[in-house]
Amino acid sequence: MSYIQDILSEYTRMRDNGLETKAALQALRPHIESLDQTQRAELAALIRTWESRPSASAPPPAAPVETGDSEPRKHAVIRPIARPAEPEPAPPSGVPTQPMPDINWVKCPHCGKPNQQHEVFCYACGQLLEPIKGGGATKHFADTSSDVSSEYFGPDSVLALRVRGSSEVFEVRPQTADHEIVIGRSSSGSAITPDIDLTSKQAADLGVSRMHVALRYEPDQNAILVSDLGSANGTYIGGQRLLPKEIRVLRHGDELRLGKLMMIISFRHPGKPAG
Ligand SMILES: [Zn+2]
Repeated sequence: MSYIQDILSEYTRMRDNGLETKAALQALRPHIESLDQTQRAELAALIRTWESRPSASAPPPAAPVETGDSEPRKHAVIRPIARPAEPEPAPPSGVPTQPMPDINWVKCPHCGKPNQQHEVFCYACGQLLEPIKGGGATKHFADTSSDVSSEYFGPDSVLALRVRGSSEVFEVRPQTADHEIVIGRSSSGSAITPDIDLTSKQAADLGVSRMHVALRYEPDQNAILVSDLGSANGTYIGGQRLLPKEIRVLRHGDELRLGKLMMIISFRHPGKPAG
């Protein structure tokens, strides 16, 4: 399989497992950005085709209306999105008019052409458009009344992940990365490799996906945010499984489990005196 196909297959897997377009692209960003213009346009076309497949735009099935069993089930009608209709009749006075939803435009960083905010790639040149920060995601931030210091991750802090039963520690500084830190495993069948590769920790046997979980630094909150990348066997923090699209704050001392592979999280703050 080509690199483009590898990226596409990870993308569709994440989308099939409940991730939003932007979250999936964000996780794949370093891989997409390593493509040249032609490859990127090719990937954009493949993603567009996949996204426009009939099942993608069909609404979830509504509860069936009892019409008798003899009538065959009709196929769902796919309606065009945001088709400008005939001018609406003036509403009766006293009824507030529904304001038209604003269309937000995003300027392509490559060619400068305006694109609608929900677009993934520039229509003009195929450039990946900037994902909206935290867009569409459900955030479950930790209770602020609990110990705040265990959540604190500052500009100088270091994140250490130790696999249980192993002395090896993976240290990362997500605040210096220009992309999310993806934890997973490599596989001989795919060119996609994660930032933290757990292959040597029996990751495949323990049910870790190639792109399992994403970590990112949130400077406004001085926190590390975690989200599952539609992994087959789930991501757990302190025994609690992350829901699709859920974003959680990682804390010092957390047990982060990918499938059956357990990691202990610790934060180091080199600038701060111990104690
Ligand atoms: Zn462009």
